[in-house]
Amino acid sequence: MLISSTGEITPRFFFLGNLVQQVFLIRGRENALIDAGMSIGGPIILSDLKQSLGDEKRLRWNLLTHSHFDHAGSTPYLQRKIPGLKIGASEVASQIFQNPRAVELIRSLNQDLERAAHLEEDVAFTGITVDRILRDGEILDLGLGTEIQVFATPGHTRCSLSFYLPGDQAVFCAEAGGVPDVDGNIMPEFLASFPDYVASLERLSRLQVKYVGLAHGGIIAGDEARSYFLRSLESTRAFQDEITDLFRKGQETREVVQTLKERYFENKKISQPYRAFMLNLEAKVKQVREILKLD
Ligand SMILES: [Zn+2]
Repeated sequence: MLISSTGEITPRFFFLGNLVQQVFLIRGRENALIDAGMSIGGPIILSDLKQSLGDEKRLRWNLLTHSHFDHAGSTPYLQRKIPGLKIGASEVASQIFQNPRAVELIRSLNQDLERAAHLEEDVAFTGITVDRILRDGEILDLGLGTEIQVFATPGHTRCSLSFYLPGDQAVFCAEAGGVPDVDGNIMPEFLASFPDYVASLERLSRLQVKYVGLAHGGIIAGDEARSYFLRSLESTRAFQDEITDLFRKGQETREVVQTLKERYFENKKISQPYRAFMLNLEAKVKQVREILKLD
């Protein structure tokens, strides 16, 4: 089952934002927001937080699955609006946020969308300082029986974390779990390392899961959630085979990227900004090319 409307999912976890930039509010004595969407989504998330918490200042944590522009984009805006909001992310993410070139890329990918959105407010991405480094195996105790387990799930990026709520058997993995398209096929997202991505999916597939909070497109629940990571593994292997096949047919990297762009982007199966889609596709083709050890 796919949950595509926002609101309370369980007393402990809420789906906020929208299907493009979705975030999850985890409630305990302290409240934590998982991810922050793109910068243009900041005002929507802030208003959702007001509604769910009564007072948005009751939000204590913004936990980031990874450093990508569409997950950390509105973090600086939320920090400007919620004084005292603390940021939790992996050590690698923390290092990325200290790299001026990475910050500029996040800012510029968000700015592309800000220009088109004509917002009245300044939502600019101005950089992030991580307050708490989250490590694999760590448990964040939010109080009132709410615990979040931290899993390092690299492969999509080097900095990817997944968050698991054992109380609700809910996992928030962002693109470490892949992204289902409009037909329900799961698009793999191994941008940083194919072997790490597969190992992370294998690890996620061993969790007891009733809810999978996706990167985009809603929440998978019930039986489909239980089988989600195994299906994601299958589609990862299938996509690897598809790319391998194009290389074996003699296509150059550039042609492989072009063929896949036509198959996936131009068929409107993917709802992702064009620049981000192409950056990601090039990275995935490069990953498979490395495995094939082509010169
Ligand atoms: Zn990402």
